[in-house]
Amino acid sequence: MRTLISGAAGFLGSHLTDLLLDQGHEVVGVDNFITGRPENIAHLQGHARYKLIEHDVTLPLSIDGPVDRIYHMASPASPVGYVKHQVATVKVNSQGTWNLLELSLEKNARFLMASTSECYGDPAVHPQPESYWGNVNPIGLRSMYDEPKRFSEACTMAYHRERGADTRIIRIFNTYGPRMDPYDGRVVISFIRQALNDEPITVFGEGKQTRSLCYVLDLVRGINLAMESDFHEPINLGNPQELTILEIAREILALVPESRSQIVHMPMPPDDPRVRCPDITRAKQVLGWSPKVGRREGLAKMIEFYRDRLVAKGK
Ligand code: NAD
Ligand code: UDP
Repeated sequence: MRTLISGAAGFLGSHLTDLLLDQGHEVVGVDNFITGRPENIAHLQGHARYKLIEHDVTLPLSIDGPVDRIYHMASPASPVGYVKHQVATVKVNSQGTWNLLELSLEKNARFLMASTSECYGDPAVHPQPESYWGNVNPIGLRSMYDEPKRFSEACTMAYHRERGADTRIIRIFNTYGPRMDPYDGRVVISFIRQALNDEPITVFGEGKQTRSLCYVLDLVRGINLAMESDFHEPINLGNPQELTILEIAREILALVPESRSQIVHMPMPPDDPRVRCPDITRAKQVLGWSPKVGRREGLAKMIEFYRDRLVAKGK
């Protein structure tokens, strides 16, 4: 099969590319490098079944030859990234989604929208099943991400219902692993970078807010299963083991025993969800999917990856 991945130079897009190439498919990656990094795809240079097109998917996109699958993964994904690139984030999750849905009709390709747990906002229902409609601030400091992702879901369903597009929607919960940008501000990579560099571990607020962390290889396996399923409504993908941010900080410090970092508390950003945990009943039933990699194993792998890459200061 010939697969197009938008956001192919990003954290998830690059791992998804590796999975599909391992399965024997051809991959056309599209990325404008707004938050993606060349080193994430450096290992693919010269691969016979891989091609990268440097392009902004909010602009018209013409692809030669057949396309069987389109994974729309492009979007700044960290709170720091989407506040820095507010208009670009709105556009890639509106015009970008629209363009790729049109391309899916033109090519008769199946389309998958990478949506997010942010659709649930600061949730009043916990854990979050797909049937929950969410609690989102439409003008807040996460709105440039949350609302266009919700629009993308609506747009995807409209193309499916009215135009017969063959679509899938996944809602991704916090995912971690190698190839995250060390400076994009997301919690796991920030704490690992800080621990390896003996910098203060910056816990926002008291650190009582919760998240649940999914290892990247589990996640991309789930994304691929969702694409190959027959299910058109949203599917949560994430690891349901919930813990507080303070616990995450302590676990990472315990895995970097040589670190001289101390935990410091910083102001809580606005609209930061107080809890987040996926109900993955649907993913289990529809896809037969659940995460396999335990948190300690995943964190240890990620720390090993960055140990060589981050220059430890003061050691
Ligand atoms: P990332 O920032 O590492 O990757 C996103 C990629 O999209 C980057 O390479 C970026 O350059 C590219 N991109 C952005 N706008 C583009 C445009 N207009 N045209 C072409 N390329 C563009 O982020 P990620 O963590 O890999 O996230 C990938 C997708 O998964 C995003 O859609 C994100 O919303 C979603 N998601 C991720 C998580 C997570 O925990 N990683 C959670 C929920 C949802
Ligand atoms: N967080 C933190 N310190 C950091 C970065 C993040 O305490 O240096 C917290 C943040 O306030 C949030 C959680 O960790 O409650 C997850 O943040 P992240 O940016 O990874 O993504 P989010 O899940 O909020 O989209």
